[in-house]
Amino acid sequence: MRERETDVVVVGAGGDGPALAWRLGELGIDVTVLEAGPFYGNEQWPAPREAPGGESSSDPSDLSGDRYDEQFTAKEGEMNDLIMGKLRWGPADGDRPAWARTVPQQAIVAQLAGVGGTTQHYYANHPRAFVGSVDDQPDWPIDYADLVPYYQHLEATHPIRPAPTTPKAELFFEGARRAGYDLTTGYNVTEEGYRPFPNAILQPDERLARDGDYDGDFGDVEGDTLAAHEHQGGPHPRGSDFEDRARRSSNVSLVPRAMETGHVEIRPNAFVTEVLTGGGTGDPQATGVEFRDTWAGTCERVHADVVVLAAGCIETPRLWLDSGLPDNGWVGKGMTTHWFDFVAGVFDPDTLEGTIGQREVNPHQGQAAGSRLDVPGVGGIAVNTFAPGITSMAMYGGGQGEFWFDRDTAGEPWDTAGRVTGRKLKELMSKYRRTLTLICHTDDRPRRENGVSLDFDTEDEHGPVPLVKFQPHPEDDARRDELAERAARLLREVGAEHVHRADAAPILLHLQSSMAMGRVLDEGCEAYDVDRLFVADHSALANGVGGANPTHTGQALALRTAETVAERYFDGVTDPIGGRTAPATADED
Ligand SMILES: Cc1cc2nc3c(=O)[nH]c(=O)nc-3n(C[C@H](O)[C@H](O)[C@H](O)COP(=O)(O)OP(=O)(O)OC[C@H]3O[C@@H](n4cnc5c(N)ncnc54)[C@H](O)[C@@H]3O)c2cc1C
Repeated sequence: MRERETDVVVVGAGGDGPALAWRLGELGIDVTVLEAGPFYGNEQWPAPREAPGGESSSDPSDLSGDRYDEQFTAKEGEMNDLIMGKLRWGPADGDRPAWARTVPQQAIVAQLAGVGGTTQHYYANHPRAFVGSVDDQPDWPIDYADLVPYYQHLEATHPIRPAPTTPKAELFFEGARRAGYDLTTGYNVTEEGYRPFPNAILQPDERLARDGDYDGDFGDVEGDTLAAHEHQGGPHPRGSDFEDRARRSSNVSLVPRAMETGHVEIRPNAFVTEVLTGGGTGDPQATGVEFRDTWAGTCERVHADVVVLAAGCIETPRLWLDSGLPDNGWVGKGMTTHWFDFVAGVFDPDTLEGTIGQREVNPHQGQAAGSRLDVPGVGGIAVNTFAPGITSMAMYGGGQGEFWFDRDTAGEPWDTAGRVTGRKLKELMSKYRRTLTLICHTDDRPRRENGVSLDFDTEDEHGPVPLVKFQPHPEDDARRDELAERAARLLREVGAEHVHRADAAPILLHLQSSMAMGRVLDEGCEAYDVDRLFVADHSALANGVGGANPTHTGQALALRTAETVAERYFDGVTDPIGGRTAPATADED
């Protein structure tokens, strides 16, 4: 078996792993990042779905906008098919099926393999956690103020800016005003209010707003093109350099920075199957990992001073359990999902013309999710735009329980609810351009019964597969109902003629807190029960950050964890981000 050594080995190049690798690289620590999926947009892998290509990449000049343009098409089926699409939880080899997970209840799991991980098709919404979710809920072993300098660092780096207002946002804001909410300013949210989403998407090219003669040629547009293709990989603007893509998924924004340090090597197509340990009589000590090359099927080992798991909320506990590491009863448990729901309003053309000056909402124009309403303690509501195929599936097809015609909605704030098919689906989809879809992100709380264990009856080439259970608690149901009611009211206030509530089955795409600090990890995100083993993905979050989109907090925590790794096991940090700009109170931005 091939064996090699490095300072730190990181499992997973998803949303958070690259943030940690970047900071370690800046501190002069050598990092090998092992990633199960493909590396799109890299000259080492000119045909990542057809052939093994190179072995690893550490040279930023390997990153190629031309390859990204070739490989990402922005077509829903080609990119987003959960089984065979380019963005899926599966191996690079397009002829092989997706990897298995056992999910006993009706649910969609949307987690991706590949450099960039699930951020490859995220919407780049980057709000901070609600202040109260860190300081007032009983889960976090650190204060909100500890995270602020790391937030600020990412806000300057990606960069993160309020989303531009497009017609769908205007309609939403008008509804929020009429429903009695005020505009929120600043990033530290403590009260109800609406605001443009702080997004990790470059500002739009000014010509899109000002040039009346703009002819639709995107050839030399810089920044956001206002085409809602985030879900299909965010390939715009085409023709730009890899690291200049408008949507700052971690592969576009953080991976190039990590590689530029000269200390970070990324090895895709490498599925880690075991955490190696040694040590004497006390706690075990992580010494490296074993991985399987997903093309060749051969196994290799990487030995390191420190091991960091960044494989996401499902695979990090799966790898932990498959490796036989100690379980204090919270490994894989306490998972939060933001217990989503969707509420859509359909508008007639005259109402729209009177409100936003045009006869269609045109949901495909503008960032996929560019405006939101915060309800601290309950969650959040955001405009959420899918392309038509995914709208028909998630908004109308993904309901739990009965079909719409079996549901009595008398006395409820929506006209229809539940699953929609057939003629009704056709009717609603024919009004797609006049529909505003809102997503409710519930502040669901960590509960031990929700999370990941192993399904010993189902093994794949990497061991027993994860068994993922999510059963909402009645208190979480109540918070979700409240958000759905607030969303329906907002839509009614601004004149929706038909309101539909999806009552969605669990959608597992915001996953947090299955290996939480304070329960499995200490305040530096090192395992309580295994020395030199850290976690740097959303599983380390202590709760669901109040229902705010989690990636900003996951990445901020990963930067902080990198500094802890350096402090505890290398030469320390002379200029910690955590000590640079921390404001006196969390009220300051
Ligand atoms: C459609 C959609 C829209 C979203 N929009 C937003 C948004 O706007 N804002 C937001 O904050 N969040 C959003 N999210 C969620 C966000 O993408 C995730 O929360 C985030 O990517 C999680 O980061 P992570 O590092 O925990 O895990 P991931 O990004 O899932 O990364 C884990 C990585 O580890 C790799 N891996 C797993 N197991 C192994 C193994 N054994 N060996 C090697 N590698 C392994 C995986 O292949 C993956 O690349 C969205 C998600 C979806 C699906």
